[in-house]
Parts: sequence; structure tokens; C-alpha cells
Amino acid sequence: MGNWRDNLRNIEPYVPGEQPDFKDMIKLNTNENPYPPSPKVMSTLNSFNSDTLRLYPDTNSKLLVDALAEYYKVDSEQVFVGVGSDDVLAIAFMSFFNSNKPILFPDITYSFYNVWAELFGIPYERPELDDDFKIKTEDYYRENGGVVIANPNAPTGVLQDEKFLRDIIEHNRDVVVIIDEAYIDFGGQSALFLTKEYDNVLVIGTYSKSRSLAGMRIGYAFGNKELISAMNDVRFSYNSYPMTRLSVALGAAAIKDDKYFKETTQKIINTREWTKKELKRLGFKFENSMTNFIFVAHDNVRADKIFDKLRKKHIFVRYFNVPRIDNYLRISIGTDKEMEYFISELEKILESDIM
Ligand SMILES: *Cc1c(COP(=O)(O)O)cnc(C)c1O
Repeated sequence: MGNWRDNLRNIEPYVPGEQPDFKDMIKLNTNENPYPPSPKVMSTLNSFNSDTLRLYPDTNSKLLVDALAEYYKVDSEQVFVGVGSDDVLAIAFMSFFNSNKPILFPDITYSFYNVWAELFGIPYERPELDDDFKIKTEDYYRENGGVVIANPNAPTGVLQDEKFLRDIIEHNRDVVVIIDEAYIDFGGQSALFLTKEYDNVLVIGTYSKSRSLAGMRIGYAFGNKELISAMNDVRFSYNSYPMTRLSVALGAAAIKDDKYFKETTQKIINTREWTKKELKRLGFKFENSMTNFIFVAHDNVRADKIFDKLRKKHIFVRYFNVPRIDNYLRISIGTDKEMEYFISELEKILESDIM
């Protein structure tokens, strides 16, 4: 028997939400956008020349980088693109977190951060959020190797303001502060402008939620050109052609349709506010989400029980069986019709349970 198993990498991977495949399902479990991508994406797809797929893509993804730079009014040298923001975040971790001091992020946040830290051997600490799921800024005044903040936070939906971000950044000028803005387009204000004031701030965004392109895998980051250049060096040290020709073309097309983008995000915001009222009426409590999901707990009925009963009806929401949040459900915002159906089925479940 060979001993090759002694050298296997043992790591507990990130667990994404399930992708069930039922015709009649209502899928509110992975914060996808319920609306299709912009019609400009469709027309770009229809006229896409498949012959070009013989050739490697542009290693710098210039078309996409330039489109993002133009839309967000920054220099192209301040833009990094990757295969979803998961890829962008992983590269940022590798590029910036090389100290022996622990990086800091909250105990309740995107559950991929600790997985990357483990994978790359980065020490980390997770200061606890307070009982309202807010960050206690003092926790981030201590010496550290870097800071990661999702704003709004996931899965809580809590948005923190500019004053809060400035406080965190001012106390952490010696390390890179990453602000993950996966959900910023649903009612928040991007911290992009802070990357111009502070050379140690990296702001990360994604096409997966507000731009309806989760299936295409496109993410991006903004920061001063030294940060971006360090990330590109890391990126080109293990993959020189990350972005496909198709993702570059569709990503550039999507960003040019601002009207559609604003219409669909506004629709989701309106549906979210309606859903909040209904959930309140049904006895749920939650923080004021500024994302495309709501993180809720019920006064009388356990979250896992509701989760199972919804699942039997092919309504999928997200349940995290981890301390502090094991009585919560994360409900993504679908179309009005989906949310009306969801609420009516939820109401039936609660009634049957209370009897
Ligand atoms: C969804 C999400 C991401 C990853 O999105 P991609 O699909 O990889 O672009 C990153 N951070 C947070 C907080 C998210 O919720």
C-alpha cells in the first residue's frame, strides 16, 4: 500500500445553496435575480461569432475592464475582473493577506471567507456581531493582518453607513480593507469613492445578483492601481485566461443597459418592501434588509421546521444550521407572483403548526 494519502489536502469546503431542478419550484435560496439578464445580453449572445472560440480570449479582458471603468468612472488600471466575485475575493486574499497576524471578519458573514483563509493558511479571527447583527467597530481597532466586511452583510442583510466604514478604514491604514458589495445595488451607496481617498481599500462587486448573470460568473474589484496590479500578478501566476470570450462580451453588454438594470433592481426593492410587511404580519422578526433577501426568525415556529415544510412544497429558502443563526431563514426576493405564492403557502404552514 502506498502512502500517498498522507499528503492529501484535507479541507472542509464551502457549501453553496442547492440547485434543485423541478418545473414547479419557487427558488428563493441562493439570492439569484428573478428577472432575465438585459435584452442587450440576449442580442449580444445571438450575434456572437462562435468561430472566435477557437482562439484564446484576451488575457486582460480589456473590453469588460474598459466597460466597467467607463460606467463607474474610474481608470481601467483601477479595475480587476474575475470568474465571479468568489474568484476576485480568493485572489484578493492571496494578494493582500500575507502577514502572520490574523485577518478579521465577523462571526456571522459570508461563509466563504473562513474557507479561503483555511485554504490559503491565513490566520483569522471572527469578532461577534452584536444582537442586532451590527459590527462593533472597536473589535476592529486591534492589530490585524487585514479586514473583510460584506456591506450589506450576508446573510443578515444589514447595511452599515459611510461613517462606519470610515471608522473601520481609519483604524486600519496598515492593512488592506476589503469591502464586499455583492448586494449594494439594492438600496445602498457604493464605497467606490472611498478607494480614491484611501489607497488600502478594495471594493468588490458581482454580476450575479443585481445584473442577473450568476450563470456567467463575472465579478470585479476597484482599488488603486498598485492593489489591482498585485492582484493581476497573482492571477497570472496560476491562470492567464480566466475570463472567457463569452463572459467578456456579455459582461460588457450588460453594463451598457443602465435603464434595464435600474428598472429590475427597483422592482426587486419594491417586492422586498411588500414582502417585509407580509412577513411582519405573519409574526416574523428581522433586521431591515437592504439586499435582495430577508433574514427572518419566527416568534413561535422553528426555522428548520418551516424550511422542511416549504421544501415539501418545492419552495426553496436557505437555512444555516450554525450557532446564533440556527433559528433563521434567508429568503431571496423573487417576482411579485412568486412572493405572493410563497407568503400564502407560508401562512398555511404557520396556521397548521399553531393548531
Ligand atoms: C453571492 C456572493 C458572492 C459571490 O458571488 P459570485 O457569484 O461569485 O460573484 C460574494 N460575496 C457575497 C457576500 C455574496 O453573497
